[in-house]
Amino acid sequence: MKKYFWKIFGCAMNYADSERVANILAELGLGRTENLNEADLFLIFSCSVRQKAEDRIFGEIEKLADWKKAKPGREIGLTGCSVRRTSNQDSAKKDPFLRRAPNLDFVWQIEESGHLTELLATRNQEPATRNFFQIEPQRQNQRQVLVPISTGCDNFCSYCVVPYARGREISREPIEILAECEEAVKNGALEITLLGQNVNSYQKKHGAFAKLLDQVAKIKKLKRLRFISSHPKDFDESVIDVMARNPNIERHLHLPAQHGDDEILKKMNRKYSAKHYLELIEKFRAKLPEASATTDFIVGFPGETDEQFENLLNFYRKANFDFAFFAKYSPRPETPAATFENQIPAAVKKERFDRLNALVVETTAKKYKNLKNKTLEVLVEQATRHSRASGNPKKEKVVCEGRSSEFCPTKFEGPEKLIGEMVKVKITKPREVELWGEIAK
Ligand code: SAM
Ligand code: SF4
Repeated sequence: MKKYFWKIFGCAMNYADSERVANILAELGLGRTENLNEADLFLIFSCSVRQKAEDRIFGEIEKLADWKKAKPGREIGLTGCSVRRTSNQDSAKKDPFLRRAPNLDFVWQIEESGHLTELLATRNQEPATRNFFQIEPQRQNQRQVLVPISTGCDNFCSYCVVPYARGREISREPIEILAECEEAVKNGALEITLLGQNVNSYQKKHGAFAKLLDQVAKIKKLKRLRFISSHPKDFDESVIDVMARNPNIERHLHLPAQHGDDEILKKMNRKYSAKHYLELIEKFRAKLPEASATTDFIVGFPGETDEQFENLLNFYRKANFDFAFFAKYSPRPETPAATFENQIPAAVKKERFDRLNALVVETTAKKYKNLKNKTLEVLVEQATRHSRASGNPKKEKVVCEGRSSEFCPTKFEGPEKLIGEMVKVKITKPREVELWGEIAK
């Protein structure tokens, strides 16, 4: 049996996609291996949101030159946000990535995964044309399951490559999503994460996402339901109400703000103001005071003045976020912002990044301090072995880690067999941006 090895970069969408691709590969008679030396095929799920992510993928392909030479017939294929055209090195119209990476054999757009039948050199069949989302996923993790509800994006934020990479927004039918979620719970899923670039524009109908969320939350034995990402221009009280009614929906909202200055938000084409965003957070906190709120920011967007950056910091303080993910602006070739005047020098981006980081760490540390002696329910995602300071291997300790419903990263000492279990953890040592505790008695 031929074998494939894969590397997945980027966001949860790539992980979710890989589970459907695994099924197609199994139908083609390929088995997965975690040992590169055994593999005939190397597949990469790419991310191109930032230049650094794409550079890493090029580096990865370059490093594979010796692996390819070592056994004739070995191939490298790539999918994800770096791909613009399903093609291989022999195609008349080649994807630009293939020209830049001669080592790469083929690339495919994820929704065209049926084309793997013809792209793989060892096959020469017609492409299998079927709806990508109707392919049954081969779950990598049966306890925490990712379920895409839509694909693509119509928002065209001026800095973002996703609408060019993933195409227009298409929503899956609720009946199909519900069936997939029910099946996952039947097979032992404790947590489901509904995925979309903008879950709030699901079916382009006001209230459609809230209705879907409510239906999924009602699945018996589903312990935890998450969703990413929300867009402040479409997020509204209907979702907050459903969250308040269903305690198994995470006590957490991830609502990417991207910036806190109105002029920059306009240039980003985000279609909301800082005031509108803050009002949403206020409504959310009024109905779910125990819940947390996190966000995404980009620092050093073209033309960002010192004052506008200060507005971002003040916005962060006002929203009283629990945590934020943030990155320095990275110009993406196809996007309008890459051509905007006044691109910010790297040193200024770094300085602003560091200042935002200091604020985020300080705020989160303060909030986490208040969680001391509280008990959180943690879904254990992984366990790592650590040797104790004595160096005695017999005294090795195992640290379990996972997240609470409020999205707090929590660690505690406990056996590996707790992976995939919900565990009540008493917080004993809050650290800056993570919590340490012990199994509650
Ligand atoms: N659809 C989601 C949203 O609207 O927030 C997530 C999309 S994007 C794949 C994930 C994050 O990458 C964004 O929230 C943004 O902060 C970041 N991002 C996207 N383009 C970027 C760029 N050109 N430079 C830096 N960060 C970027
Ligand atoms: Fe990118 Fe904006 Fe779409 Fe998110 S909403 S994927 S940031 S274009």
